[in-house]
Amino acid sequence: MKMYAVFLGPPGVGKGTIAGRFKEKYDIPTIVVGDILRKHVAEQTELGLKAKQYMEAGDLVPDEIINNMVRDVILSGEWENGFILDGFPRSLPQAEALEDIMKELNKPLTGVFFFEAPEDVIIERISGRLICPKCGAVYHIKNLPPKKPGICDKCGTKLIQRPDDKPETVKRRLAVYREATAPLVDYYEKKGLLYRIDATQGIDQVVSQIESIVNSRVK
Ligand code: AMP
Repeated sequence: MKMYAVFLGPPGVGKGTIAGRFKEKYDIPTIVVGDILRKHVAEQTELGLKAKQYMEAGDLVPDEIINNMVRDVILSGEWENGFILDGFPRSLPQAEALEDIMKELNKPLTGVFFFEAPEDVIIERISGRLICPKCGAVYHIKNLPPKKPGICDKCGTKLIQRPDDKPETVKRRLAVYREATAPLVDYYEKKGLLYRIDATQGIDQVVSQIESIVNSRVK
């Protein structure tokens, strides 16, 4: 399986978890824009120093910074099996930038998968979320616990709660999502690229729904 996909949806809806399955099953890599930013912040790069204040507040990092960063990542990579974009685009200017990037790459987007779930489900998922600060693997205290409590199954690192997963910041992130990111649903619907995914289903069901859409588009 090969795809150039966007996973769109509110924070905490499960995009990263599902993308991880496509990496395991088909070796399709995910470009996790939040992880790239968190790495810049941890390494205190120039970009990281600029991004930090926005991230801590739950706001979007300015489009220009993000667009240049994603452009560099995509155009400098080899994408034998395509890629999944998680956390980009998050605004209309970013969606337009992605169109230019895909033109330069000379590949069409396979589809934009829009993950939907009611707000109480999202809040429950975010408040129990644990991440591995080293490899980016995502767990949930109840729904997807690691084998050893508090330890990453994949690399043995101690899991943490993301500082921006605290309730005050989550509220702001959801508001930013509704304002800046939700309009992309319309944008991609008009382009005939939008596929709605019921993200309250189990992980395996979501994966197989996406598999059948990709298979039907590629044929
Ligand atoms: P995420 O891990 O996707 O929830 O992203 C964490 C934070 O990184 C967001 O709350 C934003 O501050 C920033 N961020 C991630 N992706 C983007 C993007 N496409 N545009 C602007 N800011 C972003």
